[in-house]
Amino acid sequence: MQFPFPVVERSHATARHIRISVNATGEVLLTIPRRATKAQAREFLASRVEWVQVQLAKLRAQAPRAASRAPLWDGTDVLPWQGIELPLRWTRASVARPQVRIAATGIEVFAASNTRAELLTRTLKLALMREARLEAEDLLNREAHCLGLKWRTLRIGDTRAQWGSCARDGTVSLSWRLLLAPPEVFRYVVIHELCHLPHPDHSPRFWGLVAQQMPDYARHRQWLKQHGTGLHRWLPARTQVATPVQPDLFG
Ligand SMILES: [Zn+2]
Repeated sequence: MQFPFPVVERSHATARHIRISVNATGEVLLTIPRRATKAQAREFLASRVEWVQVQLAKLRAQAPRAASRAPLWDGTDVLPWQGIELPLRWTRASVARPQVRIAATGIEVFAASNTRAELLTRTLKLALMREARLEAEDLLNREAHCLGLKWRTLRIGDTRAQWGSCARDGTVSLSWRLLLAPPEVFRYVVIHELCHLPHPDHSPRFWGLVAQQMPDYARHRQWLKQHGTGLHRWLPARTQVATPVQPDLFG
């Protein structure tokens, strides 16, 4: 019997029923108890093909649009910049060291024609991290001033577990990837972390302060929940940095 998806069959000594499950990676598992035959199990699966297809479609909808990958530097690359996808190009130039130019029309890396892709990508990422730092400093200064709060140190990192964190000593850590999100999302995370200075929790008083500074914050929080994971497919981190200061998972 042919199914429109690959199936992993598992004989199970203690299972009481034939069972179909679709795991997080999209694998369809068919559990066959001792008292059932393979043919019976497959017949059962055949009667549930539609159900499996619905589960697989749900998984696909949740997954980022494509698997994460580094730029190919073949002229087809794009990169989101403040919420807008821009073309990412490599312009061959006789420069001693690669340089990056970010404009509304696209992101361009100027580098010699024999530059390795890895160096192009590394140069781009460092430039984006520098940009993220400038943007974050600007936001922190503006918002802290409005809130009457003081921050001390800024760390720009690339952790997958959180977009930002804030320690009691005024150290604010932020992901450089916020630069890829719409500007209001970046601003929301900055406000969120600053509000942790007086409220190191997610209490109603904390959220009250966030709302005071940004009445429509829920929209931007929702954006992160929905699209945040997708931001990690761009320029994927090779190694994940250990979680600094206090975890902030935006439960
Ligand atoms: Zn928080």
